[in-house]
Amino acid sequence: MLILGIETSCDETGVALYDDQQGLLAHALYSQIDMHADYGGVVPELASRDHVRKLLPLCDQVLVQAGKTRSDIEGIAYTAGPGLIGALMVGGSVAHALGFALGVPVLGVHHMEGHLLAPMLEDNPPAFPFVALLVSGGHTQLVRVDGIGEYEMLGESVDDAAGEAFDKAAKMLGLDYPGGPRVAALAEKGTEGRYRFPRPMTDRPGLDFSFSGLKTFTLNTVNAASDAGTLGEQEKADIALAFEAAVVDTLTIKCRRALQQTGCLRLVIAGGVSANKRLRSALEVMAQKLGGSVFYARPEFCTDNGAMIAYAGAQRLSAGQRDGERIVAVPRWPMNTLPPVAEPRQN
Ligand code: ATP
Ligand code: MG
Ligand code: FE
Repeated sequence: MLILGIETSCDETGVALYDDQQGLLAHALYSQIDMHADYGGVVPELASRDHVRKLLPLCDQVLVQAGKTRSDIEGIAYTAGPGLIGALMVGGSVAHALGFALGVPVLGVHHMEGHLLAPMLEDNPPAFPFVALLVSGGHTQLVRVDGIGEYEMLGESVDDAAGEAFDKAAKMLGLDYPGGPRVAALAEKGTEGRYRFPRPMTDRPGLDFSFSGLKTFTLNTVNAASDAGTLGEQEKADIALAFEAAVVDTLTIKCRRALQQTGCLRLVIAGGVSANKRLRSALEVMAQKLGGSVFYARPEFCTDNGAMIAYAGAQRLSAGQRDGERIVAVPRWPMNTLPPVAEPRQN
């Protein structure tokens, strides 16, 4: 079954073609980052309008790349949430219009399920069950995964997401959005041990996270260095490293706890922050000590992309799940309310 996947939940227009026999055939991404840069954050109305401009040309582009035509498409998956309502509506409208015109089934899929399943697109995909750490711009969650749509929430952030914390720390250090990769690059020049930042909520039991205190700690450190007149490039790198080490250490401690608590030996990491090299290697060292292993997607499939939506949609469309006539757009949508693939979805 050849599936067209469409991602428009935020500021990235992602499109891909996935075939359940042949795998991923083509994918394309357009990032709106430069357009939003002048405003210091994503402007929802501008995001929607840009998705309108880019989406159909990208659909045509992946078809050409894969050597297919529109009539080869056998199903369409789009991100139905969570995300910006206007941006979601663009993807949903195009998906439903194309599906209606081509006479093929259409399904709205969950953006975080897309992230969660992205490592399945790689060689050596993880087998169920596993523990997943979802670490993105809007989410930090630990989930026990027994199958597609079988999600038990083990813990989550009570305030900021890990990616959001990276983005805010970046701003404090005078770096552009998205901050994660920039903080990570700066941290490579940092001096190990120059600062030690707190590991929030690691000294008590449980699998929840909190990153807002770390953000305040970072701000205070930056301000103190600024007042002392020492906030040069080296000092900024030292702060970036201390911040990154604290986030990575905190995530690693909670992941170890989740593996021990569930008895799972497989850990999947997904979402933009899972591209972080320091996080990947810390988790690999931790998992190895427990006799387990870590799975993640290639960096371009850690952040938003159409391939993960095409993949997640293919699993559910092949199982017979599809939308009714209505476009589904759900800005807030808990992932543990999704049906398992075995059960056809009703709208
Ligand atoms: P959500 O998926 O929760 O709706 P989102 O789609 O905005 O949010 P993603 O696209 O999954 O999030 O990831 C973007 C986030 O990942 C940004 O916060 C970015 O700073 C962070 N990020 C990307 N690369 C890295 C990296 N190498 N190190 C740390 N953070 C990173
Ligand atoms: Mg994004
Ligand atoms: Fe995302």
